Amino acid sequence: MDDDEQGATFDGLGLRPELLQALSALGYEEPTPIQQEAIPPLVAGRDLLGQAATGTGKTAAFALPILQQLTAHRSERAPIALVLVPTRELAVQVSEALHRYGKDLGARVLPVYGGAPIVRQLRSLESGVDVVVATPGRALDLLNRGSLRLGDVATVVLDEADEMLDMGFAEDLEAILGETPDTRQTVLFSATMPRRLDSLARRHLNDPVRIAIGREKAVAGEAPRVRQTAYVVPRGAKPAALGRILDIEAPAAAIVFCRTREEVDSLTETLNGRGYRAEALHGGMSQEQRDRVMGRVRGGIAELLVATDVAARGLDIEQLTHVVNYDVPSAPESYVHRIGRVGRAGREGVAITLAEPREHRMLKTIERVAGAPIAVQTVPTVADLRNRRLQLTQAALRESLLTDDLDRFRGVVETLTDEFDLMEVALAAVKLAHEAGGGSDDDEEIPQVAFRQDKDGGRGPAGRSAGSRDDRPPRRVTGGAAARVFVGAGRDAGIRPGDLVGAITGETGLKGRDIGSIEIHQRFALVEVPESAADEVVQALRATMIKGRKATVRRDRT
Ligand code: AMP
Repeated sequence: MDDDEQGATFDGLGLRPELLQALSALGYEEPTPIQQEAIPPLVAGRDLLGQAATGTGKTAAFALPILQQLTAHRSERAPIALVLVPTRELAVQVSEALHRYGKDLGARVLPVYGGAPIVRQLRSLESGVDVVVATPGRALDLLNRGSLRLGDVATVVLDEADEMLDMGFAEDLEAILGETPDTRQTVLFSATMPRRLDSLARRHLNDPVRIAIGREKAVAGEAPRVRQTAYVVPRGAKPAALGRILDIEAPAAAIVFCRTREEVDSLTETLNGRGYRAEALHGGMSQEQRDRVMGRVRGGIAELLVATDVAARGLDIEQLTHVVNYDVPSAPESYVHRIGRVGRAGREGVAITLAEPREHRMLKTIERVAGAPIAVQTVPTVADLRNRRLQLTQAALRESLLTDDLDRFRGVVETLTDEFDLMEVALAAVKLAHEAGGGSDDDEEIPQVAFRQDKDGGRGPAGRSAGSRDDRPPRRVTGGAAARVFVGAGRDAGIRPGDLVGAITGETGLKGRDIGSIEIHQRFALVEVPESAADEVVQALRATMIKGRKATVRRDRT
């Protein structure tokens, strides 16, 4: 293990035992970079100006120091902290985080936002609240009614301040800040720092500590040869989406990174339930347990290792083909470090990241620091999968019509046509062939989401939106037209994507990254390659053995 890979611990940040206990119960193993940098000065009472996007762990970075100030089970009625956020969604999210971290302290946290009945919010304020998390409009409304009293507020947080300015809340923010004591601590977090924000910060922050996450650029040449893809997936759909992506990618050995121990344990269970051989690895396990897990991974008994950063630190797994970020990493450096585990020694690796719609900025920052594009895609829909399966059935039937001796079935068709129309007979035969081809049609639908449009008119990383199917770039063949090559050996012959990639890169001048999508069907496979190289690939594969056997190889005509 490298010394410089040693992370900091929460213990060193000066937080009280109740908070450390809550973090440990949540399965947080170490502070994220923004937490390491922001928590000590905030605990010491400094103002702070932080440039950080969602996904960096910024909420805990300001929530923990707020809770640190709280007298346990305090009974005063006026809040000691006010967090201003641009949206109702964020108000709820931040309140939940404060509530989770402050459970042992009995923290009373109230989200207030427009669109919800004000009466309930008035009643809660009346009965006493420690932290109010509010959208500016509703905060001002409650202030004007005299029910939100800010005289005891020790800390004000402006979260996602750029968004609040963009939404036209500048005047409201000024009015609200004017009602808080001059002695307050002020914290401002923003993903971007436009000039308007600078002037707001100059007026309201007192000698702030400045923190920016993800500014440095990785040293040129550091980025490994890795095909990088991100899928935009709502939180609740992540387990299903990961399953579908893994089904398509069929990694020989993959490491799946999660943020917390809880996530590691529950995802491992889910993946095992889907038929994968997954092993969990996190800091809560004994050395002996970890060694056992690593033995199973290295011995090829387990194909997926689900781990936290802490537990995976210093691990080198020779046969690793895929790195999956189940969550966007909290710092670009951590992303670069994670994906550096594949794509070594000239081999091609694959990095897959599941990003929530709100995390587009973080992904963009990562892309900049990693110095290589990340292609953003949506998870294939059930309709996409069904269409694809029908295409595969059609291809299998065509192949059979072209190459099989079908004469012995003639009698069956002739008998049936005494009773049925020829078309009906064909339809029934296609149905049976389709069902025998494997793959069930009962997949759950994964919601299609897109990254939010950026203010500057640009879109998510790589300038692509995750939109309708027609917007979508072909899966992997980049630049130029793609052609599909049919290989007459599939799952029945034990073929996996790696076998085809290996055969193609071994026998032609193509690199792994030139190869597009690979579909492995029961009895055949389809590989996408650049049109210009298709004939070379066909010739090369005809001349070689794949998984110890010769296979029919030709351009796909479906
Ligand atoms: P945020 O950037 O504040 O929206 O946080 C992103 C996610 O990271 C949230 O789901 C947090 O629960 C989680 N998180 C924050 N800090 C940590 C940490 N130190 N370890 C693990 N997960 C964390």
